[in-house]
Formats: sequence, C-alpha cells, structure tokens
Amino acid sequence: MNKAKHKLRWLAVNVCRIVLAVTFVFSGFVKIVDPKGTQYKFVDYIQAFGWEAWVPEFVPLALAISLAVFEFCVGINMFFGMRRRFTSWLYLLFMLVMTPLTLYLWLTNPVEDCGCFGDAITLTHAETFIKNIVLLLMSWVVFRYFRLMTRFISERNQWTISLYSIVFGLILACVSLYRLPVFDFRPYHVGADLKAAMEIPEGLEGPVYETTFVMEKDGVREEFTLEDYPDDTWTFIESKTKMVSEGFIPEIHDFSIILTPEGEDITMNVLADTSYTFLLIAPHLEEADDSNVDRINELYDYCVEHQYAFYCLTASGDEMIETWKELEGADYPFAIADDITLKTIVRSNPGLVLLKNGVVYNKWSCNTLPTSDQLNAPLEQSLMGRLQLDSRLMVTLRVLLWFLIPLRLVVFADRIWVGSKLYKRMKHRKKINNLLKTRKMRKKIVAGNWKMNLNLQEGVALATELNEALTADKPNCDVVICTPFIHLASVANVLDTNIIGLGAENCADKEQGAYTGEVSAAMVKSSGAQYVILAHSARRAYYGETAEILKEKVNLALANGLKVIFCIGEVLEEREAEKQNEVVKEQLAGSLFDLTTEQFSNIILAYEPVWAIGTGKTATAEQAEEMHAFIRATIAEQFGAEAAENVSILYGGSCKPSNAKEIFAKPNVDGGLIGGAALKCADFKGIIDAWKA
Ligand code: PEP
Repeated sequence: MNKAKHKLRWLAVNVCRIVLAVTFVFSGFVKIVDPKGTQYKFVDYIQAFGWEAWVPEFVPLALAISLAVFEFCVGINMFFGMRRRFTSWLYLLFMLVMTPLTLYLWLTNPVEDCGCFGDAITLTHAETFIKNIVLLLMSWVVFRYFRLMTRFISERNQWTISLYSIVFGLILACVSLYRLPVFDFRPYHVGADLKAAMEIPEGLEGPVYETTFVMEKDGVREEFTLEDYPDDTWTFIESKTKMVSEGFIPEIHDFSIILTPEGEDITMNVLADTSYTFLLIAPHLEEADDSNVDRINELYDYCVEHQYAFYCLTASGDEMIETWKELEGADYPFAIADDITLKTIVRSNPGLVLLKNGVVYNKWSCNTLPTSDQLNAPLEQSLMGRLQLDSRLMVTLRVLLWFLIPLRLVVFADRIWVGSKLYKRMKHRKKINNLLKTRKMRKKIVAGNWKMNLNLQEGVALATELNEALTADKPNCDVVICTPFIHLASVANVLDTNIIGLGAENCADKEQGAYTGEVSAAMVKSSGAQYVILAHSARRAYYGETAEILKEKVNLALANGLKVIFCIGEVLEEREAEKQNEVVKEQLAGSLFDLTTEQFSNIILAYEPVWAIGTGKTATAEQAEEMHAFIRATIAEQFGAEAAENVSILYGGSCKPSNAKEIFAKPNVDGGLIGGAALKCADFKGIIDAWKA
C-alpha cells in the first residue's frame, strides 16, 4: 500500500472518530444534565408500546442515567483513542441496534420526537434515521481500521480517564436530579419571557386548541369545554388538550392555567402581573415529594403577607387536590394545567417558579426551596427577587471547567509519566547503541514462515492486518513474511515494502524447463518477493533435500537477486549425543562454503534446532547464544571476521512474544525465524516488538 493511500485512510479514520466522539459526548452530556427529561421520554415510549404493566417504576430513570453516562463515556473513550478495538466495536454494535430501531420509530411514530439529543436539539424520526445511517458508516470505518486511531493518552493510564468520565457523569446526573438541570434548554428557562414566547406574529394564524374537562357527578363522567364548564357540584377528573386546526405554532403553545374549582382561565392575568407570582408546579400531587411541605406553607404565608400571587399548578383531579390540602395543610389556590407542560416547566415534583411580568425570574427544585432566612425581606429588596440570569456561556464554561480541570490534571500526570518512561527508554537505547557500535551494526530481523497454512484470502487478510499494524506502529527491525508460492503476488500488492519484506518458502534447484510443479528462483523474484527460505528442516526431512541440492538452490536464488534465509540445526538425537556443533558446521560447509564473500553478504542464517520447531520446546537463551557464537566463529574462519560480524543469525523454534525478548537480548542473536506465531498478527507483532526497549 502506498504512503498517500495510508495517509488518506488515517485521515478518514481520525475524522470519523472525532465526529463520533463529539456526537456521543454531546448526546450523553445533554441527557446527563437533564436525567428527568430522558426519563419522561422513556416513559412516553413505554406507554406508547403498552409496556407500563411490566416495567418497574424505577426503570425509566435508571435507563436514562445509564444511557447518558454510557454515551458520554464511550464518546470520551473514542476521543482519546482508548481501548480502540473494544470502543470501536461498541460503537458499531450500538449503531447496528439503533439504526433499525429508528427506522421502525420513523415508520410507526409512537412518540413525536426521538429524544436522542434531549431538549437541546429536537429531531424528527426521519432526521434521526439519516443521522444514524451516517454514524453507522463512520462507525464501520473506525471499526475496520481501529489501529489507525491516534491515541491521546498512554495505554497504561487510559482506565483513569474512563473511570473519571463515568464518575463525573454520575455525579453531574445526581446534581441535576437533586437541584435542577444545569442547562435548561426548554422554553421555560430562567430569563424566558413567556408572553413573548406565546405570541403569534402579526398576519399569521395560530393553531386552535380545544381543552376538554372530564368531570364526574353521582358516578357519571362527562366531558365539558370552557364554554359549558359545569358548576361546582361536578368533580374535576382530568383535562385533555388537542389541536383542532394547525397554524403557526409559537415556542410555547400549550400553557394555560385554569383556576379550580371556578374553571376560570387566568393565564393572561398571571403573565401580565407586574408584581411577583409564585407557581408551585406539581404535575401529579400523588407522586409529589412532600418532605419540604413546611417550607411551601411558609412561603405561601410570606406571599400573603407581601401580597404576591401564589398558585399550585397541577394535573391531578379534585379529589387528590382535596387530599393534599387536608394532609399538607395547604391553604393556597389550585389551578389546572397540562401534565406534559408542567413536566416541561420544571424538572421537579413539586418545583417552584417565580414569575414577574410574564418573565421567569427564578426556579427551585423541591430540595432547594427558599429557606426562612431568605424570606425575611420583601422580594423587591432581596436577592431572590432579582432575575437569576446565568448566561449559557458562563454555565458552559463552569461545567467545562469542572470536567476539564481534573481531566487535564490526569492527562498531565500521564504525560509526565510517559515522559519519564521515554527518558528511561532513550537512556536505555543510548546504552544499546553504544554496545552496538562496539560490536558493529548487524541487521535485526524477524521473519515469519507461514509453512503450508492459510488459503489465499486468509493470507492476504493477515498480510493486510500486519501491514496496517506496522504502519501505525513502526518496527525497530527488518520484518519479512515468507508465504506459500500462490500467495506471493497477491501479498506483494498489500505490503508496504519499506516496512515488510516478502519471501518464498522454497525454490527449485533448476533454472527452468520441464520440471512440472516446480517454481524457479526467477519466478519467485518476478512475484515481487525479495527473500527465500532454503534448507528448512521440513524440506531436508520430507523432501530429501541434500547439501548438494541446497547448494544449487542457493546459487540460483542469489543469481536471481534474492536474499537467502538459510536454515541449519540439529535433531534431538544429535543434541543428546552432543554433536550439534559438528552437524551445523557440516550443513554450512556442504551448501555455503563455495560462495564468495560478496555472495555470502546476501545470506541470513537461521539456527533452528529441529527438536524445538513446532514442538513448544524452546532452546534456552543460553543454548541459542552458545550455538550462534559458534556459527559466527565458523563463518569467521571461512569468510573472515568482517563477514562474520555482519551476518545476521536468527533463532527459530517455538519462539513466542513471551520468550522473544530474552532470546533476542543475547549478543549473537539477531532476530528470529517464526513459524506458528507468525500466523496471528498480534503474536507476530508481539515478537517484533521484542526489539523495542
Ligand atoms: C519454523 O518452522 O521455521 C519454526 C521456527 O516454527 P515454530 O516457530 O512453529 O517452531
């Protein structure tokens, strides 16, 4: 793969990853700051699907918080490039579930807006489906090439960020539940002018709504409108509002206050009041938190004293209102309003709103109601009576700082940690470099021998994966993969030859001609390969390759410009009889000693004790070093000290990521020829990484 293509792929993956991260952090965050909003949305879905009977009451809120924190946390993971494989897999899975689900919601439309960005951005189901298709495609790109994601935090410390974002999400959700949402995206936010938000621009027609009231008398229920509202011998049960004709829909279109039991619409009186009005909002009195009811009564007395209006707005029926009055000693007037509107006004049951001139001056949750100390002076003279307007920008900055300051500290600590490791590594590398200078530079090589494994497609996939892994994380040594003949040309197409070399596992001992089934060195070379393994113990044992035949093969390979990885090694009986040195020397002499020094410079030796190949038994690092030193001395005798110093001698035989470092650390071991462990990208890379400090 050429560099430009790789760069393009890297760019695509990282752009997609940032878009996904920002989307998830945002959608998680807007849900975290308003868990009740998401809870109501889940309740809407549960009701629309008729599941109320078997979904326990706590589930919608638990789901709301879990979903919000999950989205936020995986968004942060994606942003920093943490647990790349797992995170990209989670995204893909999430999008694979959500995309068909939103298609279903689009087709059936059980609930008006989808709720995926809380109240911050309202999308229709169609818009959500299109958004999900785009995110699904991006998730696939990121999942497919997850290794190309650049990490912004070290692998070792990534758990601190994950844990921190979970804890932050949970704490912020609890604060928003206890107090009120940190951000209020609804039309009833502090500072909102409700009258203005209800206005219909001149020349436009507004929608027409009809509110009906279900009333009961002597066990008989009937529906009434405002025009024929009955006398107080009827008991109010519930109200229903429906749109009877569409028109321009203002931001606030369903806010009405009907005094009970009179049935008088006092909406405009309340909004036009130039003094203060307190609205105690309790969508359902039967579910309202009454732990602070004394404070509410105290507040009502304060309002009477200072002549401020006070109404309790509820969607509960007359019976429940009477029960509340009796139980809680409530003397204040009650008014009826739409249940959904009340839940939208304030995310607390009960919650408190302070209005003046139709503008929302302040809001409180049932846990933060004004205390007796705050009720000492009239509102005109107290801080409570001033518009509590925090600009969105300030709130955003404050929340960002809460999150970012500790996060920066964690990242800073991580960078210091990485820096100190880097410093240690540099020192270590310097030491190695000094060592290498004294004994001359030899090529470090890790070569894979796939043997007769993997079909063509599997082979190309493995080579592609390895190429990507090593492009993203450059090796500290030469890397070669030697494949069956039929893989060569295809594998050559997917490899970046600056990073990975390609070799065959054998070649013919004849130049060309009627040798059916054979593959010549020239053919190997023409496939794009640069290396060939010769004299592997399997070929010596099963195909009768003698020293003479191997000599022919070596000559032909070198003549065709291939580098030869020449294998030598004793069988178990020979080692047990302590004949290993003799055997290895004979193998070298029999096939290589006729070469010139120049020809020999294209030979890489691989010492592979036959008893260790594919058996799980490894020669100890000391045994390997002893033999490698002997081989080098033998080469020095034949080709001179310089050739001996320059030849790379690889070790082969059950080499794994767990033992490679120890073996490669020996001064005469210049890398490995890897069989079984070369068939898995992670294992092979683990061995390659053994060359990293
Ligand atoms: C080999 O066949 O060259 C080899 C070293 O195999 P393994 O790593 O499986 O022992």
